[in-house]
Amino acid sequence: MLNIKANNPNLKSWVSVPENSDFPIQNLPFGIFSINEEYPRVGVAIGDKILDLKAIFELGHLSGLPFKASDFDSEYLNSMMMHGKEGTRALRDRISELLNIENTELKGDAEKVLFNQNEAQMHLPVMVGDYTDFYSSEQHAYNVGCMFRDPANALLPNWKHIPVGYHGRASSIIPSGQSIHRPKGQQKPSETEPPVFGPCKLLDFELEMAFITYEGKELGDSITTAEADDYIFGMTLFNDWSARDIQKWEYVPLGPFLAKNFASSTSCWVVTLDALEPYRVPGPIQDPKVLSYLEYSGDKHIAIDLEVLIQPENGEENKVCHSNYKHMYWNMNQQLAHHTANGCDIHAGDMMASGTISGGKEGEYGSMLEISWKGTKPFKMNDGSERKFIQDSDTVIMRGYAQKGDLRIGFGEVSSKVLPAK
Ligand code: MN
Repeated sequence: MLNIKANNPNLKSWVSVPENSDFPIQNLPFGIFSINEEYPRVGVAIGDKILDLKAIFELGHLSGLPFKASDFDSEYLNSMMMHGKEGTRALRDRISELLNIENTELKGDAEKVLFNQNEAQMHLPVMVGDYTDFYSSEQHAYNVGCMFRDPANALLPNWKHIPVGYHGRASSIIPSGQSIHRPKGQQKPSETEPPVFGPCKLLDFELEMAFITYEGKELGDSITTAEADDYIFGMTLFNDWSARDIQKWEYVPLGPFLAKNFASSTSCWVVTLDALEPYRVPGPIQDPKVLSYLEYSGDKHIAIDLEVLIQPENGEENKVCHSNYKHMYWNMNQQLAHHTANGCDIHAGDMMASGTISGGKEGEYGSMLEISWKGTKPFKMNDGSERKFIQDSDTVIMRGYAQKGDLRIGFGEVSSKVLPAK
């Protein structure tokens, strides 16, 4: 395993970290925050606090590293990420050193550089240049195949040879906390009647994780599975909102379009791939054998415990799904190698989402389509109501963390409320 200093499980911080916090000193995720609607800037989460990187840079605590003021005095992480894995790894190591319980360099300035998370506004962490959505969970692909085709031929013939994906829409990726309006669009509710236009009736979430890339190679060059880790900055929780009735009518023959591009919500703290290294696990055996450019060595899957909750207006949270990122068939290295196999270029801030992450059992399905099995098995809520799909005024919340022994690092949450159609 990589020896990354900031991951040492014995480290402790002088900033107090509550038990079960997502943000112990071994995490140190990056994000964009503002206080009192002032300018957004780069911060790092520690316990219930945010360390202001713009402030510590100005105080001279990052001298010796190749960063400049505008890397942190910025409304996106992209500029900081242009320093690549080597740069951000050195930065995270330095932040870990400054927050270490034995370090006194920042203590006199604590009031100037630490802010309360609950007083901060979080923003979209990166300027997303391009967004790709994969379809890499076998159970999800199988479930959808069973519902819309037949269980004997649930997976299409290409599925175990290609990490299937499509190009999505970057402009409508929104940060946690931002509400969405129920989309409108064309649907064809009856086989025998013409299509209609109106508010989506089958609004769904998709439990996904996204990875965010560094600047890649030149157009025409490819990234191998062995190189992929060096091109992945970090990960977020990702809710790929889906309008099932619009999707069903429009997707033939070119795939998802308006059923997907009205909104996708991301969590705001980017947990670095470096911080996730200790949670690597082996992936499934891939049979049939994949083509050589998709072969990989080492453990490239990651165990991240994931859950989805639906909270009705003024109601309690209802857990509708408990899944895990380790259930993926294709890992990020294979996804990135496939994405660039034809010479397609990637850039700092591109987001690539996993596809819906469903486990093998009921209770582990990552969309309402599967949970309610196309609406035939409504989910019973604590308040006695039922959900086949998402209703107006429902808030959908996703949370995730990786854990080993007593040490746990998390992502915070991605939460968005559904408002009526405009
Ligand atoms: Mn999706």
